[in-house]
Amino acid sequence: MSEGASVPRSGRDRLTFGLIGDPVAHSLSPAMHRAAFRELALEAEYVPIRVAADAPGFVADAMRGLASSGGGMGGGNVTLPHKSAAARTLDVRSEAVGRTGACNCFWQDEEGRLCGDNTDVEGILRVLESTRGLDPGGASILVLGAGGAAAATVVAALQAGAANISVRNRDRRRAEELVGRFPLGQVRLFEAGSPDADFDVVIQATSLGMNPEDPLPYTFSGQAPAHALDLVYRPGGTRWMAHARGHGADVEDGTRVLLEQGVLSLERWLGKPVPAAVRTAMQSVLDGVSD
Ligand code: NDP
Repeated sequence: MSEGASVPRSGRDRLTFGLIGDPVAHSLSPAMHRAAFRELALEAEYVPIRVAADAPGFVADAMRGLASSGGGMGGGNVTLPHKSAAARTLDVRSEAVGRTGACNCFWQDEEGRLCGDNTDVEGILRVLESTRGLDPGGASILVLGAGGAAAATVVAALQAGAANISVRNRDRRRAEELVGRFPLGQVRLFEAGSPDADFDVVIQATSLGMNPEDPLPYTFSGQAPAHALDLVYRPGGTRWMAHARGHGADVEDGTRVLLEQGVLSLERWLGKPVPAAVRTAMQSVLDGVSD
């Protein structure tokens, strides 16, 4: 079940945080959070924990093991495909978990309850609001995907005050389920043939692009939306980013979202804002990854 380290067994163990998912080996989260702990002079570890997609039962064990480490001060993050299983495991859910049905960040409170948030929502919102030339309030937004990242994107777009949000997914039934989570008319299914350039921004929230041989999640034939955000990140950028750039979009990968959700996760675990130097240390790990 575990890759790189085992889950702590008792509250007397070393303070440990971790990333639960599959795959996890590619993730920059361990390096990013270790840099933060060094800057904070916090004696803690951050470990990748691979829990196979067909063994979601281990997610709860891993979450409780991490959260109870260091005398109950530990916690962690969850990535695909386990964010929904993590949300179901929680004793206390934030509003963002309730709205997305997905949890990417967890910890234990003083009463020993497992608490969770979805810091992807605020992370994506921060990135949208700070993208040069984009005003997400009133924008027309196309979301590719219907999993946890797409749900977080839709909630972030709603919080930003987007005028139109369309969802497109390979499995149309899953897209319908995501659209159906929100009050009628707030979010709609993408209509094939809609001109791409009518959208102000397209957000790529499928898992495609982590491997260079992955097919493109969506292709443009004419002018792309003015902005394209790919939540996936890999050295040199994804093939889809190059495709979107070739069709006229300003492109960005997922490293800024990774940083923002990471800073917010750290603040949940510590229960207070982190100093600017910590953010800088985390940022320095990510520098050079995007193109
Ligand atoms: P999920 O497993 O919940 O969803 C996967 C999505 O990808 C589904 O929409 C699925 O479509 C689609 N997909 C998978 N394979 C294919 C394929 N071959 N063709 C077409 N569509 C496909 O994953 P998450 O939503 O949790 O994560 C998605 C991505 O976003 C991940 O790569 C993750 O790392 C990234 N992410 C990055 C963040 C960051 O900080 N930068 C934050 C959050 C996520 P279908 O329903 O049809 O199977």
